[in-house]
Amino acid sequence: MNRRTFLKVVGSAALLPALPHNLLADTTIRRVRPSDPGWPSADKWKQLNEAVGGNLIPVDFPIADLKTDATGAAAQALIKNVENPYYVGEQPGLTESFGWVDAWATKRSVHAVAARNAGDIAQAVKFARENNLRLAIKGGGHSYQGTSNAPDSLLIWTRHMKDIQMHSAFVPNGCERVMKPQPAVTVGAGTIGKWAYQAVTTEAGKYVQGGGCLTVGLAGLVQGGGFGSLSKHYGTAAGSLLEAEVVTADGQIRIANACTNPDLFWALKGGGGGTFGVVSKMTLLVHDLPEYFGSVNLTVKADSDDSYRRLIRQFVSFYREHLFNDRWGKQAHLSPDNKLRFSMMSHGLDIDQVKKPWQPLLDWVANSGSGCSIEGRTDMACIAARHYWDSEFWKEHWPEIAFPRNGNPLHALVDDVLLHVMSNPAVTFDNRPGASVENAWWKGQTGEVATFWWGYESLWLPSSLLSDDAQQHLADALFDASRHFNFALHFNKGLGGSPPEALALAKDTCTNPAVLDAFALVIAADGQQAAYPGVTGREPDLVTARKAASMINQAMDRLRAVAGQDAAYVSESNYFQKDFQRAYWGSNYPRLAEIKKKYDPDGLFIVHNGVGSEGWSRDGFTKL
Ligand SMILES: Cc1cc2nc3c(=O)[nH]c(=O)nc-3n(C[C@H](O)[C@H](O)[C@H](O)COP(=O)(O)OP(=O)(O)OC[C@H]3O[C@@H](n4cnc5c(N)ncnc54)[C@H](O)[C@@H]3O)c2cc1C
Repeated sequence: MNRRTFLKVVGSAALLPALPHNLLADTTIRRVRPSDPGWPSADKWKQLNEAVGGNLIPVDFPIADLKTDATGAAAQALIKNVENPYYVGEQPGLTESFGWVDAWATKRSVHAVAARNAGDIAQAVKFARENNLRLAIKGGGHSYQGTSNAPDSLLIWTRHMKDIQMHSAFVPNGCERVMKPQPAVTVGAGTIGKWAYQAVTTEAGKYVQGGGCLTVGLAGLVQGGGFGSLSKHYGTAAGSLLEAEVVTADGQIRIANACTNPDLFWALKGGGGGTFGVVSKMTLLVHDLPEYFGSVNLTVKADSDDSYRRLIRQFVSFYREHLFNDRWGKQAHLSPDNKLRFSMMSHGLDIDQVKKPWQPLLDWVANSGSGCSIEGRTDMACIAARHYWDSEFWKEHWPEIAFPRNGNPLHALVDDVLLHVMSNPAVTFDNRPGASVENAWWKGQTGEVATFWWGYESLWLPSSLLSDDAQQHLADALFDASRHFNFALHFNKGLGGSPPEALALAKDTCTNPAVLDAFALVIAADGQQAAYPGVTGREPDLVTARKAASMINQAMDRLRAVAGQDAAYVSESNYFQKDFQRAYWGSNYPRLAEIKKKYDPDGLFIVHNGVGSEGWSRDGFTKL
């Protein structure tokens, strides 16, 4: 949908001619910057600090220290910890991604309210509104699009709001007559996946839908739609939202659920973070845990382009036949070097059941005519689900995984809990002195911290592409796309093959309905770690970056052609996404735009390519 169509849909275009010119001029909104006369005085900031219990803090920017005082303590701490997502997450002036070539580079806010409760948030929102400030909201800080940082802004930072409370029988406020009690968990707005998994799975033996990446914030995840590795079974994170406490632009603390403010509730379920208000806490559905989770890591290498074509064709029918169900999530990676790499996770399968479906593919590869071979080590593993995110267990049983010696993974069968060791060195711990054992993350995630993105695109692939008569077209497109750039099929980020309950929950969200029938979300992306403009020796490589962005675009164009649509996942997509309203929300956009107008008529909450952002300048300071 272009801007003109959008205005028509939401009705504001029709109003324009009726308004006198001077009234139009009066409605212009331009947020103030520190250099403007309207910037709040020191006295006013002092009053805000008192109103938020002393939690108004200055925002350090260690990246600037790299430029001015590279040997100083702040710069050295950044250099030492730049791949540690917990260190990065604890800095109000940093974000998990450092930027995106030709798009954005992370910048600090002028001040931050390090909120401790909804009251602090409400005070910050009122202050921003009364003083015409640009507002930014940051939780886990994992926005790829840079939507949780804004220079010259006031930041609401929720990192410290991490209370977690389990409920055995939760009924949303006001829903007593229409909803049955359900097991649930209430999490503070700053809660990241690892902390939620620790409380819900390790301690309580249950499951909550967080992200695959352990340091993603749940508030940002849920508002984006949100997928974990097992979303094909449990559905989206947005689908599991039962209730939110949210501070809207008028400074009111509201409850949003299916019975109270249901329009706001629906918009929070996938309408994008930083857009409808500031969520202070959320209550999420809790599910039963299966006995086991499992994993398969396996790489097949083809000896020629022709063999790779055949391998991909074989893979498409193999996937449909053996893995296209709610038991299997995570990814298959395709690449120009003719490799097909699986990094998969299973739900509720014991070790024999994990291994069994792979045999037909292994047999096909072993066939002398395939032109393919298995590369490196194949891991098929299974673990008691309760220990999957259990830091203490990892430390105790997988010392070689946490601290690999000579890169050798642990092979031994440790005890009856661990059926077969997940031997891929999977986990990294925060090694800063005094760091909690809970500060752990998947090793594969390390490469994403502090990345300056070159390109990043996503696309949902409809399940119809797996039908008999479409498989060859899909295989051809996958092969052609792989000539341009590597990409991954994230099976857990499409709900084709999901159980009816998961589909019903996701259907009641505002995520693009394309997710319901997609067998996978394709993601192609690349970037440069620990890079930032103007820092000597760490400048983003613009030539390589623009070339990569173009190759990513060509690969995805080929896949868009076979998909017959351009539907993308808002939280993992192109900063330059064309027609973003339709791509992210499809037919849900007009309703979202109405809800935005109702709860935030003056655009206090504006993020790049968010609902309503088409009415604002790219920096979010000026209403167009
Ligand atoms: C390394 C990495 C791995 C990822 N893995 C996954 C994955 O496995 N599955 C998946 O689905 N996605 C994944 N994502 C995408 C991620 O889910 C989104 O970027 C998500 O929005 C991040 O939330 P956050 O709180 O960490 O980030 P933030 O950058 O803090 O917030 C994201 C957006 O939400 C807003 N926001 C944050 N908190 C609030 C609040 N309390 N109220 C209102 N608005 C708020 C921010 O203003 C911003 O616009 C990943 C991203 C990264 C960088």
